Amino acid sequence: MLSNFKVVLVETSHPGNIGAVARAMKNMQMHELRLVTPKFFPHADATARASGADDVLKSACVYPDLPAAIADCRIVLGASARDRTISWPALTARQCAEKWGGNPHNSPNIGLVFGRENSGLKNHELDLCHYLLRIPCNKAYSSLNLAAAVQVVCYELFVASGQEQTTNVGDQGEVPIATTEQMEAFYLHLQQTMADIGFLHPERSKSIMRRLRRIFNRTQLDTKELDILRGILRFSQNHNTK
Ligand code: SAH
Repeated sequence: MLSNFKVVLVETSHPGNIGAVARAMKNMQMHELRLVTPKFFPHADATARASGADDVLKSACVYPDLPAAIADCRIVLGASARDRTISWPALTARQCAEKWGGNPHNSPNIGLVFGRENSGLKNHELDLCHYLLRIPCNKAYSSLNLAAAVQVVCYELFVASGQEQTTNVGDQGEVPIATTEQMEAFYLHLQQTMADIGFLHPERSKSIMRRLRRIFNRTQLDTKELDILRGILRFSQNHNTK
């Protein structure tokens, strides 16, 4: 869990956005939401948009101002879509994730501060931040919806924390990939069957077998799938000899 990251929303106007942020956070294993003087909270629209992330909403704390909301944070990043006349050191969401997302257990509390829907963060609020946090996008249209911005940042942190699990379709890790030995036995069986049914002419056998190997090498069969194919071969051999 990325429990050292605290998402802070400043003066959010639309309660639906607060709900959508809670959902975006929970999707990415983040749970601590802090709200600085939201216009409406709690609110039915927030609950509706949270869509199952009610626990994040329920545990969200409301603060009277930004300093109170980030008091226990050692690093604070202020997310902004706009170029500022004064320049703060800036990091992209990915750079931030690479810097602090990889080792969440040893990282200090980090505040991720997001601004108002209509006017973003004020300069005096960015003064409280160590870095400006930027989501690179279309320069001519750079302002994301609040919850979409939170989603992108949390996603980058989630990926960097190494919690993503890639599973191939049909491979839940329970069925092992076939070994080379099993594949060789299968190729022999396949070649024999094709000869038995009169499909394989000895002079073409080498090149066809090479092409068939290429097909199967691309698919990485697991042992269950291999059993099915060998079953088909056995069946066609029996059928052929009847
Ligand atoms: N109209 C506002 C932007 C509001 S979007 C403005 O001019 O600043 C609401 C919040 O989402 C922003 O305050 C910021 O925290 C975040 N956000 C939106 N787009 C972003 C981007 N491209 N990079 C970083 N944060 C962004």
